[in-house]
This record gives sequence, structure tokens and C-alpha cells, in this order.
Amino acid sequence: MPPKRYAKVDRNRCVSCGACTHECPRDAISIFKGCYAVVDKARCIGCGKCEKACPANSITLLMREVTA
Ligand code: SF4
Ligand code: SF4
Repeated sequence: MPPKRYAKVDRNRCVSCGACTHECPRDAISIFKGCYAVVDKARCIGCGKCEKACPANSITLLMREVTA
């Protein structure tokens, strides 16, 4: 069963602290060129750990599109 959710970063809010990257169990989130966090949607399992760790509230969990 594929994950239903994935994390999305609001680049304008991200302060590139890196907290989310340390929490992610799938290595799915990284800091792009030291500027803001980006999520590899293919690796993300939607666990929400990055969202909880983010001090800037810049991560939201979104539903994936249903492909059937
Ligand atoms: S939701 Fe979980 S798997 Fe996805 S980027 Fe955040 S910590 Fe990683
Ligand atoms: S924890 Fe939040 S503010 Fe820090 S790098 Fe990740 S998305 Fe950006």
C-alpha cells in the first residue's frame, strides 16, 4: 500500500535550520543549496516527523493524488 500523504515545504517560511532533515527516517528531505528544504516525494512516507520538528511551521502534509 503506497503512502497516502507526503510532506511539502513552504520555501518562503523555511529558515533552513535543518531540523527536518535530522528527523526524517527515509532521508527524503534535504536543504537545497543551503536555502530551503525540499522533499523527495518518491521517498517520503508521510510520517509527519519533519512537520513536528519544524520550528517555522513551514511543512505541511498533503494528500497524494489517487491513481487507480
Ligand atoms: S513526512 Fe516523514 S518521510 Fe516524509 S519528509 Fe517528513 S520526515 Fe521524511
Ligand atoms: S525544519 Fe522547517 S525551517 Fe528548518 S529546514 Fe526544515 S522546513 Fe526549513
